[in-house]
Amino acid sequence: MTPSDYDVAIVGGGLAGATLARALAGSGIRTLVVERALAFKDRVRGEGMLSWGRPEATALGIDGLLDSAGAIEVRYWKRYLGGAPRDCRDLIATTPGHHGCLDFYHPAMQRQLLDSAEAAGADVRRGVEITAVEAGTPPYLRMRGAHGEERISARLVIGADGRASKVRATAGFTVDRDQHPLMIAGVLHEGLYVPDDTVQYVQNPAVGRAALVFPLGKQRFRSYFVYSSANTPRTMSGSGHAGDFVTSCVETGAPREWYEKAEAAGPLAAYPGADTWVEHPYRDGVVLIGDAAAASNPAWGCGLALTLRDVRVLRDRLLATNDWDAAAHAYAREHDAYYGALHRVQSWLMLLMYETGPAADARRAHVFPNLAKDPGRAPDMQGLGPETPSDEAARRRFFAEDVV
Ligand SMILES: Cc1cc2nc3c(=O)[nH]c(=O)nc-3n(C[C@H](O)[C@H](O)[C@H](O)COP(=O)(O)OP(=O)(O)OC[C@H]3O[C@@H](n4cnc5c(N)ncnc54)[C@H](O)[C@@H]3O)c2cc1C
Repeated sequence: MTPSDYDVAIVGGGLAGATLARALAGSGIRTLVVERALAFKDRVRGEGMLSWGRPEATALGIDGLLDSAGAIEVRYWKRYLGGAPRDCRDLIATTPGHHGCLDFYHPAMQRQLLDSAEAAGADVRRGVEITAVEAGTPPYLRMRGAHGEERISARLVIGADGRASKVRATAGFTVDRDQHPLMIAGVLHEGLYVPDDTVQYVQNPAVGRAALVFPLGKQRFRSYFVYSSANTPRTMSGSGHAGDFVTSCVETGAPREWYEKAEAAGPLAAYPGADTWVEHPYRDGVVLIGDAAAASNPAWGCGLALTLRDVRVLRDRLLATNDWDAAAHAYAREHDAYYGALHRVQSWLMLLMYETGPAADARRAHVFPNLAKDPGRAPDMQGLGPETPSDEAARRRFFAEDVV
């Protein structure tokens, strides 16, 4: 084997990269993390980790670190249809692991986890950007930072550099994407008039929009608005548009009084909601994890849990054998199975909750009464994630095709 500068070189110090670096460095593996940010600021990312991600966090030993980053457990998940309350789920009582949704401010989480990767022995370079990856044996990283350009080798390069992954683009992976125009905008709010123990989820499928609020504790909240770019109501990014964001949430069905004393405490930003993914996220010494492997539609809130699933599966595979080529292929196969299941189920939810027009209205007129009579027909995104049944029988049950 050709000697390399590191065993593992990880690009990106987000939830994926920092958590994996901590685990591998803590097991004595020579680990480099390259993170382009010098300090983490609000990028408008996920801040509510669904219940099915909680056992992944525990298996990775990061529960205490998330607590130190200010995470709070949110017990209830309340849904509204249009303006009317629909149901309120007690997540601790009804999910298989008896976990609430774990909410945290994303930059605080990143700081805590990357610091802990460094403390575990990872070599962390901040303010350094990867410009290209050369797949092969060994793979190389090209990077640029304050000290100029550098090229380093590793036994394995791991792309954990998010939804616009440079590693993915330069290592030759082919990216697939869903073809729908859903967008998600978000802003950090202070002073919303909603309780701290409940995620609020206002769905308005007749117009293909939704408004969500995740409490972060201490009177701070992450608010999101989901909408179609084909039917853009207003500009949804830039600090001058925070009022338009609130107006759009209220028009979607969120009570106006929630936002009466709201102050935007961070940037307003919008992103495409369509999934992007690669089949088999491993080739020639380069593995992809987290959003770089598959960015799932934020409207369903599975990205953080899916990211930790990737980290846990890859960590276990790498620590189990010295044949890292075989380990990375095994991870990629497993990833395709659980991400594929999630994607399948979320495509059903998309049809029901975001498609507009007469055929979509007719579908809802048939499905909603059957879901109300028998809630077990619905997939359990919060509690089970990819383990919720996703076969043909589950699809037929969800769409109530067994009921005339
Ligand atoms: C608007 C929005 C709302 C969301 N809401 C939810 C939610 O409610 N629940 C949920 O579970 N998920 C949600 N998600 C998804 C969640 O945020 C992601 O799945 C998760 O952050 C992915 O983590 P990651 O570490 O893979 O990527 P990232 O968090 O994007 O981290 C990538 C890191 O790589 C660094 N980087 C990038 N390029 C380079 C480079 N060339 N060189 C060096 N470093 C680089 C970046 O600076 C960053 O630190 C949401 C996403 C969006 C966009």
